[in-house]
Order: sequence, then structure tokens, then C-alpha cells
Amino acid sequence: MPELPEVETVMRGLQLRLLGRRIVSASVNRPDLRWMLPPGLAARLTGARVVGFRRRAKYILMRLEGGDSVLLHLGMSGRMVLGPLRPNAPALHEHVVLETDDGWRVGFVDPRRFGSIDLVPTAAEDGHKLLAGLGPEPLGDLFTPAVLSAALAGRRTPIKAALLDQRVVAGLGNIYVCEALFRAKIAPVRLAASVAGAKAARLVTAIRATLNEAIAAGGSSLRDYVQPEGELGYFQHAWKVYGREGEPCERCPGLPACAGVGRIVQSARSTFYCPRTQR
Ligand SMILES: [Zn+2]
Repeated sequence: MPELPEVETVMRGLQLRLLGRRIVSASVNRPDLRWMLPPGLAARLTGARVVGFRRRAKYILMRLEGGDSVLLHLGMSGRMVLGPLRPNAPALHEHVVLETDDGWRVGFVDPRRFGSIDLVPTAAEDGHKLLAGLGPEPLGDLFTPAVLSAALAGRRTPIKAALLDQRVVAGLGNIYVCEALFRAKIAPVRLAASVAGAKAARLVTAIRATLNEAIAAGGSSLRDYVQPEGELGYFQHAWKVYGREGEPCERCPGLPACAGVGRIVQSARSTFYCPRTQR
């Protein structure tokens, strides 16, 4: 499942290829993905120039000349596939295909169809029902220690669960929450309300650093963010704790108090952590 850094990398790849281009042809090959596609989507896309991009949480907004934005979510298995125009029929599970005025083809492929595409007026993007309830963007200026502390105040849940709540901070998934808590040396079971002051400041810094490192890895490992098969945005990244149960913890080599990366289950999802340094 693509997380925020993958979505950011996909958006940057789309931006490099599509910004300023005109869509000369658009085909929509089924009426729905996770939800019904907006009526007239192909007609609205055809002939439109792409004038901007923005990411909000795990959503990509592609802004069109004329005042509409395409709101895209990759879901569980969605991928954007770029390549030179070819005469063939659409690939398997390719639900939407765009062709640009400079001879490129952009396909949205989504075998499990948990992805979604909608249209929203650019001037009212944040009012869309999928975006309206989201908390601050973790890499944005509005996400500060004071804002995080205020959002956590009075929360009787573990900090792990609070960070997965999209109203507290937008776009974080299981992997990056585990990694950020490790970096901030905060125990995943700690009461959310008790994360304030210096701890909240450490956590904000850790969340930003963890996401920025992953985004940088995505950008540096791919030329123009496009993989050889034309797929955007998926890359190998080395996690410090995620998926590493029982492996030596990089922070405590040889220390008996840390028996290696631990795993517990919280809200039916695995949490990975260092048992010695996360408090
Ligand atoms: Zn450790």
C-alpha cells in the first residue's frame, strides 16, 4: 500500500511529465473504482492543459486549466504507468488512460480497485469530503509541536493509534508511525495525552525527518522518478524497525537490555519498536 513518501514521489513524477502539457485524449474504461467515477470525466480531461500539482495527505491533486482539479488516490494497489504512446489496447487493469500533446501515455492501473478519482473545483479543493476532515500536513508549516500537543491533549489512546488518526496529522500510515516513534524514542504504548513539550517537539522532528529521508530515497533511486517499466513511485527503502522483529536494533548493538527489535499488535496492526530506548 503506497504511503505518503511514495505518493509524493508519484506526484513529482507526474509533475515532471505532465505539467504544462495538454491532454489530447482521455479514455475511462469502467464506470467505477472504489466509488463511481465522476460523470463526464473523459470529456473534462480531453483538451485540458495541466497547470499544477499538489499532494494532500495520500491524495494527488492535478489541476487543470479551466478551474477543475483531478483528485486521485492510489488505494491499495494503484499505480501510474508512463510511457511513449503505443498503438496497443490498454494493459490489464488499466482503468484510465491519458495521452499528452508531446506523445506520452499515462495509465492508471489498479487491480484491486481501492483507488479513487474525482473532480473538484481547484478553488474548493480542501472542501472536498475526502479532504475536509484531515489534520495538518506533516511536512507543512502548520504542523508544529504546539499543534500536535493540542491535538493529543486528553486522548486516552496509545500514541501509536493517535498518530494513525488522520485528524491528528494527515497521511501517516503504519510504517512511518513505527519509524517516527523509534526515531523520537517514544514508546508506541505511551498514552497520547502524555506526549507534550519536549516529547512533542522530538516527535514532530522525527516524523518530518523520517518522511523526508524516504522521499529523498525515492527521488535519488529513480531517474525522473520513473522505473524502467514506466511505473512511478515505488522504491526499496531500508526501515530501521518496521518488519524487523528479532533483528538487532541499530541503536543498541550488543546491549542485553535491548533484545532486538520487538513487535506488539495494536489495533490489529503490528508495531515494531526498540524495547530499551523508546519510553
Ligand atoms: Zn534497541
